[in-house]
Amino acid sequence: MSRKARLKALWEGVCPGRVKENEPLGPYTTLKIGGPAEWLIEPLNERETERIIALARGEKVPWRVLGQGSNLLVSDKGIKGLVIRLWSREKPRVVRTFSDGGVLVEVTAGYSLSNLVRYGIREGLGGLEFLVGIPGSVGGAWAMNAGSYGRQIGDLTHYLITLSPKGTLTRKGKKDLAFAYRSLDLEPGEIILSGGLKLKVRPREEIRRETKRLWSSRKNTQPWDRPSCGSVFKNPPGGFAARLIEEAGLKGRKKGGAQISEVHANFIVNLGGAKAGDVVALMNRIRRRVWSRFGIVLEPEVKLWGCRLKPLWTAGNR
Ligand SMILES: Cc1cc2nc3c(=O)[nH]c(=O)nc-3n(C[C@H](O)[C@H](O)[C@H](O)COP(=O)(O)OP(=O)(O)OC[C@H]3O[C@@H](n4cnc5c(N)ncnc54)[C@H](O)[C@@H]3O)c2cc1C
Repeated sequence: MSRKARLKALWEGVCPGRVKENEPLGPYTTLKIGGPAEWLIEPLNERETERIIALARGEKVPWRVLGQGSNLLVSDKGIKGLVIRLWSREKPRVVRTFSDGGVLVEVTAGYSLSNLVRYGIREGLGGLEFLVGIPGSVGGAWAMNAGSYGRQIGDLTHYLITLSPKGTLTRKGKKDLAFAYRSLDLEPGEIILSGGLKLKVRPREEIRRETKRLWSSRKNTQPWDRPSCGSVFKNPPGGFAARLIEEAGLKGRKKGGAQISEVHANFIVNLGGAKAGDVVALMNRIRRRVWSRFGIVLEPEVKLWGCRLKPLWTAGNR
């Protein structure tokens, strides 16, 4: 039996019917770009994820975690090894109430962020309103410390249950979680399985009204009609990446099928048929121009799978 066939049999033994070989990743990302994953597996629950990781470790197959692919740029050449896609409909559940009106809600990483926001409205649990309109899974939101309007999911997070690359399940409390601006310190290969969010009982109508207000203010400032991955660069300290890109005169510039959005200069949109190489070329151009005009280095917010940006510090840029 070939190694491929043996691996396939091993994965199928854990996730029957949910193992795909050479699966194009574009459709699993909001940018709709990306070559194939050697293996794409969709575990149904935490136990299956643990078992797949144990097998991958034993077989020395590298792995990556995919949520809803809303912050990803995947190489046109694709990805070697295993992509584990976490996806879940398991409803959040209240695990504890506090005397200060706080409620601890446990959520699985594969649950969708938009469903979580709806859950908060339905159950009269406030705190999630600022997440309205952010696509992705709750696990992806934790990994990216997603947020808006000066608030981020890390602020609400009481604990996370993670699976270490060695296969150990760990409950990490608030003090063990190094959330920072659009990041969480995780070991390479560590997977967030679930976590607890501290919410607050609040009248449903108030939550609904605030969610609606925040959604109205963001819906006109971002391009929703074209595939994108949200903000491509992190805001530099004290500034806004979008403003710098606009002031550098790059809004609307195109490369192949990709364009620096006319609506929000920190978004790159796929006009149709864009390649990862087109997006990378625009990102390099932005970084070079912003550096040479303003002396500011823009760091990517989007996670690059198999793609590389050119270093800024080449002789020509000094
Ligand atoms: C139109 C649009 C608007 C957006 N607006 C915002 C915004 O306002 N604020 C904001 O913060 N973001 C925004 N984003 C970016 C994106 O939605 C968030 O970063 C989101 O939290 C990513 O979740 P995901 O499930 O799609 O993660 P993915 O894109 O699938 O993955 C992102 C990273 O997280 C890792 N990851 C995913 N799940 C796990 C897990 N369970 N364990 C460990 N690592 C994991 C992946 O390996 C990858 O490195 C926007 C994106 C779009 C397309």
